[in-house]
Amino acid sequence: MFSTGGVRIVYSNKGKPQLIHNGYLFIVDKNIGEKVHWRCIDSRNCRARIHTSDNMVSIRCSEHTHEPHAKKIWERIGLIE
Ligand SMILES: [Zn+2]
Repeated sequence: MFSTGGVRIVYSNKGKPQLIHNGYLFIVDKNIGEKVHWRCIDSRNCRARIHTSDNMVSIRCSEHTHEPHAKKIWERIGLIE
């Protein structure tokens, strides 16, 4: 687990990385070289996106169309944001 630029990356029980930003959960959309593109887990309805590479974090879109994922984050990784 590490935290940088206001985001935190954790690993699910299955070893899949998930990114937490402002109480929202993101999953990997795609890896492009060193860069990871993350999409909101509600991406069907939500356009929020984050890119990370090394220690750089760029928020591509922070506008969520729904409530934060506090409950899901708690259920999945036992963290309260
Ligand atoms: Zn969202």
